[in-house]
Amino acid sequence: MTETASIKILAEGLEKRYRSARGGEQVALTGVDLAVPAGELVCLVGPSGCGKTTLIKLMAGFETPTGGVLTIDGRPVAEPDPDHIMIFQDYGLFPWRTVFGNVLFGLEARGVPSDEAKARAQEALQLVGLCAAAYKHPHEISGGMKQRVAIARALAVEPSLLFMDEPFGALDAFTRMRLQDELLSLWQGKGSTIVFVTHDLDEAIALGQRVVLMAANPGRIQRIIDIDMPYPRERTDGDFAAYRHELFAEFHLLHEG
Ligand code: ADP
Ligand code: MG
Repeated sequence: MTETASIKILAEGLEKRYRSARGGEQVALTGVDLAVPAGELVCLVGPSGCGKTTLIKLMAGFETPTGGVLTIDGRPVAEPDPDHIMIFQDYGLFPWRTVFGNVLFGLEARGVPSDEAKARAQEALQLVGLCAAAYKHPHEISGGMKQRVAIARALAVEPSLLFMDEPFGALDAFTRMRLQDELLSLWQGKGSTIVFVTHDLDEAIALGQRVVLMAANPGRIQRIIDIDMPYPRERTDGDFAAYRHELFAEFHLLHEG
């Protein structure tokens, strides 16, 4: 992070408690301090239940904080912003629209002229390898394909801020690596700010300029690690292994402490 880069997302003392059905409370996140500079690709990584989804939903305006401060471009996050895109863990597709129609939706909603929208939707489907399924409906395709539709829909729009919650989790290793590469070239070409949630350490190291390691009970930031390696990153590289080692060591500290 350079001193001159403007802060895109700023969390200070951010807290989220959920009320449980029996009247108790669940502290999903506490004391989260994080500054994301404009144009950064940052990965949130941590075990199930550490508040990754909660944090990204707060940033995307789908949940409201119960404490602390959260701003984007200096303004408190109040509601979902149409210029920001969130890819949910559960795809968020419209069942009544075809694959092509789902990808087209985001472009139409932004007033992209019809011919251009169709061309960009087509291009995005090609990127995720789904041209053959363009006229199927979501119930006719597999989970992994649905996730690729959601990714194509987000990439087609070229948003300034992209929130991705374990977007590649359901994919086979080859498709996953291809999409990681595509995501990196999209990011390098467009300068979007990307917050990427994963529970996969290798994926976090392959993608993130910084990796935010989170811990559970209560959900919080454990450590933030700068990944100082050029892209594309080779998993077989010595530096890659060193970062993997460092993150694993931190996990072990967590589980023993
Ligand atoms: P992660 O994405 O890292 O697995 P989550 O943000 O989904 O973690 O959840 C963090 C904690 O908050 C968990 O203990 C989870 O059970 C709880 N939680 C998440 N969403 C809700 C909700 N809507 N109501 C109550 N508790 C929730
Ligand atoms: Mg989650």
